[in-house]
Parts: sequence; C-alpha cells; structure tokens
Amino acid sequence: MNFDKYRICEIIKDKLQHYGTKVISKLGPVVNPLLINHKKEDNHLLIFYFHGLFESMNQRALNHIDPQHNMLVNQFDEFLDYFLNHGYKFIKSEDLLTGIEENQRYAMITFDDGYFNSMPAWEITNKYKIPGIYFLTTSNIIENKSYWWDIVYKYRHKQGNSLEAIGKEQSFLKGFKHPEIEKYIIQNFGIKSFEPWSDIDRPFSPDEVRYVSESPFSTIGNHTHNHAILTNYEEEGIKEEIMNSNKILFELTGKLPNDIAFPNGNYNKQILELTEQLGFRFAFTTDPGKNRIRPSNKNLICLKRLMTTTTDIKEIGSFYRLGANPDTVYSDVKGQVTFLAKAIMLMRVMRK
Ligand SMILES: [Zn+2]
Repeated sequence: MNFDKYRICEIIKDKLQHYGTKVISKLGPVVNPLLINHKKEDNHLLIFYFHGLFESMNQRALNHIDPQHNMLVNQFDEFLDYFLNHGYKFIKSEDLLTGIEENQRYAMITFDDGYFNSMPAWEITNKYKIPGIYFLTTSNIIENKSYWWDIVYKYRHKQGNSLEAIGKEQSFLKGFKHPEIEKYIIQNFGIKSFEPWSDIDRPFSPDEVRYVSESPFSTIGNHTHNHAILTNYEEEGIKEEIMNSNKILFELTGKLPNDIAFPNGNYNKQILELTEQLGFRFAFTTDPGKNRIRPSNKNLICLKRLMTTTTDIKEIGSFYRLGANPDTVYSDVKGQVTFLAKAIMLMRVMRK
C-alpha cells in the first residue's frame, strides 16, 4: 500500500485546526472577559466584514452560495445589539477624517461583493441609523452574474464533492487573473453557470445599487471590476480594475468612492501606492485585528477587518473585542507552542 505521508499530515493538520478552534470557541466566554481591559477598548475601532445574510438555516441548506461566511438575519440583529450594549458607537470611514471623540470605542460594518442578500442587513442598519459600507464588484452587478467562487461551490456540491475539495479548487483559482478564471468556469461548468439560481446568489441590480446608495447610512466602495486579486496583476491591470469599477460606481451613484476593499484581502506596497494615487482615502484589508484611532492626515489609511461567521455573538463577541477570532487565537497558540518546542530542542542541543 502506498500511503501519501504529506496527505495524511494535511488531514491531521485540518482536524487539529477544526477541534482546536472549537475548544477555543467554548473557552472564550470564560477566559476572554478576564483578558479584556476596558480602558484598552477605548480609542479603538473594530471593523467587521460580512457578505450577505441568510433568512434561515433552511435557506442556507439550499447551497446556492458558499455558506461559510454568512450570518442569519436574526444573528445580525443580535450582533449589532451586542456591540451597542457594550458601549460601541458605529461610524463610517468619513468620521475618521472629521475627527472623533476621545475615550470612545468604535465599530464599523462593511459588506463585500454586492450580494442582493445583504439587503436585509441594509434594512436593519437603516432602522437603527447605523452606517454601512457596501463594497461592490461592478462587473457582476452590470451583467447580473453569479460570483465565480459560488459557481464552483454550488456545482461541485451538487456533484457530491467534499467541502475540502471545493475549498482547494477555489484556492487554486485565486492564483489567476480574472480572464483565466472565467475561461476555467466556462470550460468546467458552461457559460450558463453565470446565471444566478435565486435571490440568494445574485448580485444587486444597478437600480438596487442606486436605491441603497441614496440612504444617508450607506457608503458605496470599490471592490474592483472583476473581483480581481490585485497581487496577480501588473500596474496597468491594477489601475484598469480599479478605474473601471470607479467609472461604473460614478454612473450609478453620482459619487466617486473614497473607500476600497481588496478582493480576498490581497495587497502589497505597490497596490497601496496606486490606490492612494487614484484618490482613495481608506483601504480595507482582511488582516485581522483592532485599529488604533489616530488623528486624520492626508495619507491613505489602511484598516484591519475581522471576518464574521454564523457563530452566536454571545460566544464570539468577547474574541472580537480583543481584536481576534477563534481562528486567529488558534494560530497564535500554535505559533507559540511551535516556538517553545523549537527553543527546548535548541537548549537540549546546546547542553550536549
Ligand atoms: Zn470579495
């Protein structure tokens, strides 16, 4: 029998990650309150990113989109309540320029990609007068196209593939530019696969973007034209992706965006410089953590964001307030254990 050692190691690593994260999630509500230093929560900004919301677990179970990041509508309501009850004030990016009060704790809500299913969140935030930023992938909106990672998810899931295999295929595709990904989708699933299946997987229509943008609590941001993972592109390609999106956003809303969120969170120094040259004031990453609020200046402000999940806010809220989530805590713990193990090994070698 020929065992693939590498493959076995990968499976063990995945299982450890899964159970490690679960144990940390359960311990969080007990341990985290002891770690939260309330003074340190002040003058910090927590930014959360969502994709869309599910109406119910039944809607989630339809598997019309990759379900990993989406909360339920009632969980979103509880999420906002949790932070309001812990003294957080929800702000928009512009507030960072006009100056904000000292000794306050702040939070910001952002939605990536432009899913129509973020509409229930828009309704809730409007009801509570809480601002939200909507980062739109303009080609999907203009052409009413399903997002490529959802196409991979829904077709492969229907074919009976495992979540792990689907995740690997999606990660593989993230190494390419948009035209290559599109070619792959057409070759594997056909051109018709871009047609959305329902309101769950479709993007906003242009009219809906106009409608959403008219609320004083909405800000529209750039998420490139084709959800381009910008680190795969040369300078010209980066500019083209950002400018094409800006042009459409201007036509739809009458405004040029100040905010950009990098698709898949990928950026580098060159990308930050280009975004600044193109007139953006705020760049939203997916680097996890808290943002320390500093006085505004003329430079581009690069912001960290925390990913949200379907987990109950009572379980995960204290992690967020520490600028973390169970996954980042797991990685930290694993990193420290590995470091300790290496240090012990080194001491043993030196003693010999
Ligand atoms: Zn995105």
